[in-house]
Amino acid sequence: MHRIAIFGGTFDPIHWGHLLLAETALHQVALDRVIWLPSLNPPHKQPVHFQHRIEMLQRATADHPAFSVSLIELNRSGKSYAINSLIDLSAVYPNTHWYWIVGLDAFQTLPRWYRGHEIAQMCDWLIAPRQLGGETIAQSESICKQVEQHLENQSSTVRWQSLNIPLVGVSSSLVRQFVCVGRSIRYLVPESVRSYISDHHLYTNESE
Ligand code: ATP
Repeated sequence: MHRIAIFGGTFDPIHWGHLLLAETALHQVALDRVIWLPSLNPPHKQPVHFQHRIEMLQRATADHPAFSVSLIELNRSGKSYAINSLIDLSAVYPNTHWYWIVGLDAFQTLPRWYRGHEIAQMCDWLIAPRQLGGETIAQSESICKQVEQHLENQSSTVRWQSLNIPLVGVSSSLVRQFVCVGRSIRYLVPESVRSYISDHHLYTNESE
């Protein structure tokens, strides 16, 4: 039985926080592989073109033997839903115990995901703490328990564990905001991503 985690996101752009989450997950639960799954048409977001996000993901993960970037979302049209990608990936990787890497902010919304009650039970959830308003790490456990309870009330179960990492304040929106006002993003993203953003004038007013 393989042990694979999916790390879904918009990755607009990938940043060091994402990389730390994936590396921590890999070692904490002895995964064989982390599949980075960029969302083609994420609901409620209008990111830069998929090709740019893919390029940045590939550059940032190229030197890691256990990381791969999935383009499976290109096979579907319409909005991107996690459950469809998990079903498609399960066909490509049979005999797999699936994990899903997620930040606390995203996990909190799981009961509202498209077919969230089903996907909740299809994998083990690896949850990274994340600052939500004034919440602390201790409160993040209680937020996860609330999500678990919410799903249980609707006859769904969820297996989850917290990733053992410190709070990381980096977000893609922070990176975009820094670029937009001309601040340096060195050390917020890998150098290969920083140079890609600069070469393609991403996240500036005259973005491609
Ligand atoms: P944005 O700021 O544009 O909303 P983001 O930084 O949250 O983007 P996404 O690509 O939307 O990046 O996130 C993918 C996944 O990674 C989500 O589950 C999100 O919660 C998680 N994540 C991203 N950054 C962090 C972080 N600093 N700490 C914990 N989880 C994070």
